[in-house]
Amino acid sequence: MLSSRVKNIAPSATLAIDAKAKQLRKSGKDVVIFGAGEPDFNTPENIKLAAKKAIDGNFTRYTPVGGIPELRKAVAEKFQRENNVSYDVSEILISCGGKHSLYNIAMAVLGKGDEAILPVPYWVSYEEMIKLAEAVPVFCNTDERFRLTAGMVEEKISDKTKMLILNSPSNPSGAIVEPDEVRKIARLAADNNFYVVSDEVYEHFVYGDNKSISIASLGDDIKSLTIVSNSVSKTYAMTGWRIGYTAGNNEIIKAMENLQSHSTSNPSNIAQYAALEALTGPQESVKKMVRAFDERRKFIYKRLNEIDGISCVEPEGAFYAFPDISGTGMSSMDFASKLLSEALVAVVPGIAFGSDRHIRLSYAASMRDIERGLDRIEKWLKQS
Ligand code: GLU
Repeated sequence: MLSSRVKNIAPSATLAIDAKAKQLRKSGKDVVIFGAGEPDFNTPENIKLAAKKAIDGNFTRYTPVGGIPELRKAVAEKFQRENNVSYDVSEILISCGGKHSLYNIAMAVLGKGDEAILPVPYWVSYEEMIKLAEAVPVFCNTDERFRLTAGMVEEKISDKTKMLILNSPSNPSGAIVEPDEVRKIARLAADNNFYVVSDEVYEHFVYGDNKSISIASLGDDIKSLTIVSNSVSKTYAMTGWRIGYTAGNNEIIKAMENLQSHSTSNPSNIAQYAALEALTGPQESVKKMVRAFDERRKFIYKRLNEIDGISCVEPEGAFYAFPDISGTGMSSMDFASKLLSEALVAVVPGIAFGSDRHIRLSYAASMRDIERGLDRIEKWLKQS
């Protein structure tokens, strides 16, 4: 009796693994969790205080559907300050998390038969959102370091191409699209008139000499074709608060707002005040978290490559390692499910991201857990 729409979607693998691992932990098992990507840091005190003040000040009623004007303004200022792109407040929409922003974008822009170019490996929910909008995901390869080039995108353009999903730094690979390639991709989008949905949720998590640029900053032509999705979840350790935002041209933002007015209405009033403090308050916590993740990144990359049957490309950004496990002879699903039941380590099978040769580990976990988890993986592989 279910609709064909929901019959065709798979549950989010990242959230499913996370729920299973947390349940095992609750039942007393000592599970090391490299599952869903969320910072292990707590939300900074100043942000929590802003939320408490919002409750005490009775900011507990509906807000405008697209968010409180102060937050929309703070987001526009963030784009100017950090990305060098000017947006009017009317070009900003606040939603219930980055995932909700992306879902609204898919529903507002894609329709039956439209094609959306999706570089592989991709974050699990993009594919399902495209399909929910009755559009077609057109998978696009990346190189052996998971880097996307304009040439790879160009091969996939057809007269049905409506959008490209750009996620740099990438979840799950951590790869960054080089600035020169971003420039070429901008030209391709302008020449062929398709949207670029730029998911910039990991923009602050960039390591070493790598540089990540926002495609919308490359000129008015490409800005009008770019829809940026971002959130406070990762940058400020606020995953559970559910505040995401979109920047794009008036017409799209208005359509997304209309859609949102019939589904969630406004995002949580209290969480919006917390997000406002996150964007306008002190930023030290961000730097501290990025430094900690960088240390963990170096460790996990080195340690994974010491394990027989596993090889890993150095992640350039985000907080994920995406090692090749094909040397173990297992599929990614077999590897992940046996590893969890036999060695109590939770990872996400790469098949959820479009590659069965890989698994994803989130290193937004404590150094102690990273060490213990990798020791367990090594021991488990030696025994099996
Ligand atoms: N984006 C994170 C991840 O990939 C959060 C979980 C999710 O919503 O998929 O793990």
